[in-house]
Amino acid sequence: MSESRKTALIIGAGPAGLTTAFELLQKTDIKPILLEKTDHVGGMCISVPYKGNLMDVGGHRYFTKFEKVKQWWLQFLPLQTMPSSDDLKINRDLKLPISPDYDPEKIDDVMLKRYKLSRIYYLRRFFDYPVSLNFATIFGLGPIRMTKIFLSYVKAKAFPIKNEKTAEDFLINTFGKELYQTFFKDYTEKLWGIECKEISAEWGRERIRGIYFWETLISLFKNIFIHKPKPEDPFLYPKLGPGQLWDKVAEKIKNQGGEFIFNCAVTALHSQNGKIESVSVRKADGSVEQMHADYVISSLPIQNLIGMLNDVPQDVQDVADGLMYRNFRAAAILLNKMKLKNTTKMATVNNILPDTWVYIQESDVKMGRMQMYNNWSPYLLQNQDNVWIAFEYFSGDNDDIWTMPAAEFEQLAVEEGCKIGIIEKEDVLDVTSYKLEKGYPAYFGAYKDFATIRRYLDTLSNLYPVGRNGLHKYINIDHVILSGIAAADNIAQNMPTKDNIWNIDLTKFLD
Ligand SMILES: Cc1cc2nc3c(=O)[nH]c(=O)nc-3n(C[C@H](O)[C@H](O)[C@H](O)COP(=O)(O)OP(=O)(O)OC[C@H]3O[C@@H](n4cnc5c(N)ncnc54)[C@H](O)[C@@H]3O)c2cc1C
Repeated sequence: MSESRKTALIIGAGPAGLTTAFELLQKTDIKPILLEKTDHVGGMCISVPYKGNLMDVGGHRYFTKFEKVKQWWLQFLPLQTMPSSDDLKINRDLKLPISPDYDPEKIDDVMLKRYKLSRIYYLRRFFDYPVSLNFATIFGLGPIRMTKIFLSYVKAKAFPIKNEKTAEDFLINTFGKELYQTFFKDYTEKLWGIECKEISAEWGRERIRGIYFWETLISLFKNIFIHKPKPEDPFLYPKLGPGQLWDKVAEKIKNQGGEFIFNCAVTALHSQNGKIESVSVRKADGSVEQMHADYVISSLPIQNLIGMLNDVPQDVQDVADGLMYRNFRAAAILLNKMKLKNTTKMATVNNILPDTWVYIQESDVKMGRMQMYNNWSPYLLQNQDNVWIAFEYFSGDNDDIWTMPAAEFEQLAVEEGCKIGIIEKEDVLDVTSYKLEKGYPAYFGAYKDFATIRRYLDTLSNLYPVGRNGLHKYINIDHVILSGIAAADNIAQNMPTKDNIWNIDLTKFLD
């Protein structure tokens, strides 16, 4: 490395930090140094090993409408050779979203092609998605509720709430009160911990496209009343779980001269005259070091970043303090078999549900979602005769779900799974769990004043916020990657604006 080579300190080795580092290496002579507080890369997007099995923290669908992002993924993990038409036929006949044992070449470094099946569990029944007005739906919801849904929709269209103020107003106007109460209310409260009437209508309008569940329900609704569903586009999934891709990206970065410092928590950023001069870190051995920076890329949650900067104006600090997040906690459960009695006719090989994930709408449990890992990739399991599922919960910092010890949480998850009739206690072989702080940046609380933070951060010329919590945007991996690419492009081209990064969720081009 030449003496004059510039450095970029990249805070966080999650998807955003890794993308920026990789892109900087392709486009500039700048040396990326990744500072990561944990001992691994991937951030939220990891495959957590547990006794030979792999847990996906969330069920990470690699899905994008941007061809550029898809090709970016495939340069690290190419697509597995396509199944033969015989495999596909077996798949179709069994109504499987995947071809579980198709692996002709036994190559691990591949992306699998997957088809999403995400049904809704409500009233101890599964509701298909996409839903059509068939006997199962009418029988499941009952003719009275179906009639009410229809009538309340007609009413909402004929007499909409004027001057929509809250997300509840917006949802009632869009779907009618009955459908909103049947499918939206409970899930929203579980996910966000507040009622729809406390969320602004603007938020509802702005975000409704981006939220998987709501997307599902819009389609569900349209399919009932408006038109027949179109088949889903497939998504990609790394054979060994979502973290596999980021391990590959990290390997390439290392080979190309990037540096990683693990167990290295950034504790402060020091600015002077509109620039970050240095960054303080606490290393694994407890030592504290100050590192010089030409560029700083931050995927830190904005609230933490603002807390680490010096001379922050009070109004900016106040908004940052008022930003809100939701935590995520999941219990992964290894089973002999599932309990499918009375729940579905769509049991498949190994007697498991065919879904990739299921939204739990039942209001007598705290659980919000269930993942069926077998259907994401059978290679997440050591023994493919077993069933490997996760029950997922969303919480605030002070909720029991978040504060209770792991063993208690795991017990609760098993009990709730039994209560709603998905599993039986005697089939449970093992349980583990995972906690993820600030998994979801929220669009309420002080978010309405976010422009104050953005304006302030823009005054620090060599600081580039990227990623989900880094931009405080509820974005998926594809927009996170685009934010990293945009940051590297801006640095490479010496562009003073950061608007293209802040507005990354508005990116609509298809190239
Ligand atoms: C439950 C769940 C399900 C999801 N499902 C999907 C999906 O299906 N499809 C999809 O596309 N996306 C999904 N996502 C979103 C996806 O995981 C994120 O968009 C993406 O991982 C964000 O990447 P990031 O790099 O911005 O942040 P992160 O992954 O959070 O990375 C930030 C990194 O910064 C590190 N860090 C934090 N503080 C410090 C510090 N002080 N010093 C040093 N390092 C620090 C962290 O340890 C972490 O490694 C899901 C997210 C969740 C929570």
